[in-house]
Amino acid sequence: MSSILDTYARKNISFKKGEGSFLYTENGDKYLDWVAGIATNILGHCHPHVVKAIQDQSKKLIHVSNAFIIKEAESLAKRLTDNTFADKVFFCNSGTESVEGSIKIVRKYFHTIGKPEKNRIISFSGAFHGRTLAALFLANNKSHTEGFGPKVEGFDQVPFGDHEVLKKAINKNTAAIICEPIQGEGGVKVVPDYCLKGLREICDEHEILLVFDCVQTVFRTGTLLGFENSDISPDICCVAKGLGNGLPIGAILLTKEASKGMSHGSHGSTFGNNPLVCAASHAVLDIVLAKGFFEEIEVRGEYFDKALKKLKNNFPKIIKEVRGINFIKGLKLKVDNIDFMSKLMNHKLLTVKASENCIRLFPSLLSTTKELDMGLKIIKKVCEEYKS
Ligand SMILES: *Cc1c(COP(=O)(O)O)cnc(C)c1O
Repeated sequence: MSSILDTYARKNISFKKGEGSFLYTENGDKYLDWVAGIATNILGHCHPHVVKAIQDQSKKLIHVSNAFIIKEAESLAKRLTDNTFADKVFFCNSGTESVEGSIKIVRKYFHTIGKPEKNRIISFSGAFHGRTLAALFLANNKSHTEGFGPKVEGFDQVPFGDHEVLKKAINKNTAAIICEPIQGEGGVKVVPDYCLKGLREICDEHEILLVFDCVQTVFRTGTLLGFENSDISPDICCVAKGLGNGLPIGAILLTKEASKGMSHGSHGSTFGNNPLVCAASHAVLDIVLAKGFFEEIEVRGEYFDKALKKLKNNFPKIIKEVRGINFIKGLKLKVDNIDFMSKLMNHKLLTVKASENCIRLFPSLLSTTKELDMGLKIIKKVCEEYKS
């Protein structure tokens, strides 16, 4: 019996080594890993540049208090602000912390500008924002909130994709709208660029802050955060997962205006700005910010999308829809997603489930077309098994 609290239905398998796109078990079985620590190992497992950065930093300084200037964090924040809409960054340790911090920033902003009545945040159905109490009641997924009352107040929810209902839900108390540019857990549902633009317009019109939860999309869409192709930007953006290639780091990116209320003592995190995780994140940025990196993602992303769509066309009774952008992809299935995933796993391909009977595919951004083909071939094989 495990001594770990039983909150996960774990598969009876464990790994002793990871390298690039692959995971290896104790007895040498090799798996193609499209779970990627749930969209986290953006450059595959144990990328040498990240490993070296961790090794080097661990010999110099692992942790130091935020009572002092932390150069590794300062320079990481500078790189993030230089390359995004943001003017300021708050570092934390996870996605849910970045959401939780964003809620605080929104409330404090309106308090500071003398409009404390603006304190409610609108989310979309199907959203996932993490597992702390406020993030849970913000996303309002009944299967996650059940038994965890009393409810955290201050949140309203509207159906995904209904502009008119959203407009009606806005009132004098609305402070912010929070939206994932692609709903990950919700079933890899892409919010089209014109809708992101629409959200920006609504927010500007009603003096509402726009918050994007890019925890899962970061780097994977072939842009830095996941919304940049829309030509608009939020006031606040939550990031985590891929940012540290497996080391626990989260970040809140925000504009100078949105940061107005956050003065000394208004928020904190003991481990936030940790030099070791910042060094790992620097190593990730070295690679993804290199010239031509995202253009290259576009090329292999399109290859992957075309191949998945071809599979959908060849197996219309099994695959209903191909969703997602570049390296955050989903298949909406007509057969049971859990059954499909376990069949993929029998053929040594690891995938993640999502709502709406979907599976999620998170290949490393450095996957070669040969590795993509390997996974595609396994999906094809499993589709054929259903037919026979
Ligand atoms: C994973 C995820 C979170 C929560 O991140 P944790 O690091 O697990 O706390 C929040 N929002 C989105 C969109 C996510 O995908």
